[in-house]
Amino acid sequence: MITCAYCCHECPDSAQLCPKCGKPIFRLPVDDTPNYDDLAQELLRETDKKELLSPKQAIIIACMVLLLALVAYTIFAR
Ligand SMILES: [Zn+2]
Repeated sequence: MITCAYCCHECPDSAQLCPKCGKPIFRLPVDDTPNYDDLAQELLRETDKKELLSPKQAIIIACMVLLLALVAYTIFAR
């Protein structure tokens, strides 16, 4: 059930308009559903705090680059 923001009438989840007052129903974000804007802000803040890459991530990326270079070399060296 969704509570109408205008008249506090309990409306069915599928309702687009409040059956009591006819106003559109706003689905207020549920607390356990992450707000993606907030999440992005949180991630940005986390990135500011930490180093850009952890040493482990840097090693993984270095390995991937090396592997890609190797693959490219095997393809183009024919
Ligand atoms: Zn209403």
